[in-house]
Amino acid sequence: MYPTSSSEPAGSGEQEGERAASRRAELAGQLASVRAEIAAACLSAGRDPAEVTLIAVTKTYPASDVRLLAGLGVADFGENRDVEAASKAAECADLRLTWHFIGQLQTNKSRHVVRYADVVHSVDRERLIRSLGSAARSAGREVTCLVQVSVDGDVSRGGVPAGELGKAAEQIEAEAGLVLGGVMVMAPLEMAPELAFATLSEYSETVRAIRPAATIVSAGMSGDFRHAIAAGATHVRIGTALLGARSPRVR
Ligand SMILES: *Cc1c(COP(=O)(O)O)cnc(C)c1O
Repeated sequence: MYPTSSSEPAGSGEQEGERAASRRAELAGQLASVRAEIAAACLSAGRDPAEVTLIAVTKTYPASDVRLLAGLGVADFGENRDVEAASKAAECADLRLTWHFIGQLQTNKSRHVVRYADVVHSVDRERLIRSLGSAARSAGREVTCLVQVSVDGDVSRGGVPAGELGKAAEQIEAEAGLVLGGVMVMAPLEMAPELAFATLSEYSETVRAIRPAATIVSAGMSGDFRHAIAAGATHVRIGTALLGARSPRVR
């Protein structure tokens, strides 16, 4: 299980208050430096920092961190596991947040994920599109879907080969309950990020030809978001640089 505030040993209210204050200060410092790096990357790319949305990837971290980051002005949160995401979204239901599902998604989880996810970044097959669509319709929700593209064509880590991007985007566009939002890319570990992100704008054009408003380009993590911004990313997904190193269990 990931740590939750309720699983911590009960301290005095005062100790808890101090712990929260020091975590808040830590997150505020890391958030400021990530924001500064995003601004610097935008400056050198001749882009407006307002074009780039920071998604805080809170996987393995407790809902109390979501709350602290929300208090510091973060509105977008990313999670890659359904059970963990659902419980955090429920714990933070009183806050006005946008939840991004960024992990590989099994078709049988669609019904559950559409209850809290506003955006699903990892859409990569027709069966998943159909099941997300049917789940969204029965939940009375509209879910924004990004087509995940596999840059190197190794689809075992999720994503469609670039040649199938247009077809997947058309299937989303045709599916009631789903809104085609754009594209998502993860740089393969063994590939230089400049190279991995070189085709981002092409992918985005393909999707915008189908739906002009589908302008989201989700790319960039802690290690490579500067390159992703240079290549046109509109949404960066940052975990480690913001919250700290995770236990090795989760990538
Ligand atoms: C975990 C994860 C991230 C964040 O990774 P960091 O290196 O911790 O910033 C981004 N995108 C996806 C899909 C992830 O699973």
